[in-house]
Amino acid sequence: MSDELLHPDEALELVLRAGRDAFVSGDATDFEKVPLAAALGRHMPRPIAATMDQPPFDKSAMDGFAVGLPLAESNIAAAERRVWEVAGTVAAGTAIDRSPGPGSLLRVMTGAPLPPGTGFVQRVEYTAPVEGREDALTFDRPETSDNIIRRGENLRAGATLLGPRRLGPADIGILASSGVALVEVARRPLVGVLSTGDELVPAGGILGPASIYDSNGPQLAAQIRDAGAGAQLYGIVRDEETALRTALERALSECDVVVLSGGVSMGDFDYVPATLEALGVRRVFHKIAMRPGKPTWFGLRGSTAVFGLPGNPLSTFVNFQVLLGPHLGARMGVESRPLVLSLPLGAELSRKGVDRVEFLPVRLERGGGGPTVAIPLEYRGSSMLSVLAEAEGLARLEIGVGLVPKGDKVDVRLLRT
Ligand code: AMP
Ligand code: MG
Repeated sequence: MSDELLHPDEALELVLRAGRDAFVSGDATDFEKVPLAAALGRHMPRPIAATMDQPPFDKSAMDGFAVGLPLAESNIAAAERRVWEVAGTVAAGTAIDRSPGPGSLLRVMTGAPLPPGTGFVQRVEYTAPVEGREDALTFDRPETSDNIIRRGENLRAGATLLGPRRLGPADIGILASSGVALVEVARRPLVGVLSTGDELVPAGGILGPASIYDSNGPQLAAQIRDAGAGAQLYGIVRDEETALRTALERALSECDVVVLSGGVSMGDFDYVPATLEALGVRRVFHKIAMRPGKPTWFGLRGSTAVFGLPGNPLSTFVNFQVLLGPHLGARMGVESRPLVLSLPLGAELSRKGVDRVEFLPVRLERGGGGPTVAIPLEYRGSSMLSVLAEAEGLARLEIGVGLVPKGDKVDVRLLRT
């Protein structure tokens, strides 16, 4: 392995640290309050405490009959075939201050508040009608539990309602159950995206004989938005120093993070690293022991982070997964580790160079009853973006590993869950 290449795990630590620093160096402006309906996918860096007991009152867990006697009475009454009078009904949503008398019952619905003095609820399935009488019944089986959910049994006021996280649908439900209408979330960092290259044409444009469409710009913007941040597209920038400098100056002044694709390699027109440094962006690293993605450049100007990603589309995609996405999470105060599964390979995996950590696209074959296996996808170089249409994960091969036989396990980082 060449000494100058940084291990991708160390590169990750550096971009995470920069993200954390940017978050803690911020102030109240790092946060905003959003209505619950707009909070899905937002990052909530601080825990939220419950302001009320859950449930907020003692309630019935069953449709049945509130009995004003202890639970043991269910057994005795069932054995004696005692006849009970039904003195009234409590629906869910109705407040009640009436108690069931000793010889009578109050009909209760699931979720209804418990009448005061209730010892247990006899569920409706364990009762039998009394012939010729509409308002009377017997217990035909004894209850073994009281069928009551006590106030605060699920959650006590003051306990943690939700820990820091990126909010998913279940979290929205939990917040709603406690009456939270506004949620404090991290402000979305604005990420500027620049595509460099004289060969690039935007989608919808007309291709020249040596041109290609810019796929990195739209793909990065989509990855950024998917990660919960904001994307600002600056379009295509020519491989020319002044054009690059002008576009970068603008992006640096308007954004929290700037991402460039292309122009960081050793080509004759790769002006990105020199231009960034001339604009006062301090280099943190350049080149990592990762395939794809070796020429990656990362630097900081104050808390503004700049990622110079190699132009190969697959490389851009993987780089986002491994470095840029985690940086954005840290910048929003919520770090989530990717889901990595150790899966058996459905076919042998081999590679020639072993000097870098490699991320290889795989698809997953869900075995009929058997284990899910990872199938390496046919892939010829990092420009073959179409391989990602089938990819469900990225298998990680460590430095020094050249061959993994079929059936052996490999770490797969899931792309879709
Ligand atoms: P570079 O990193 O600029 O040397 O580019 C490496 C390869 O990626 C070249 O084949 C470029 O044509 C291609 N490439 C660079 N930028 C883009 C882009 N925005 N969209 C699609 N392909 C690109
Ligand atoms: Mg280029």
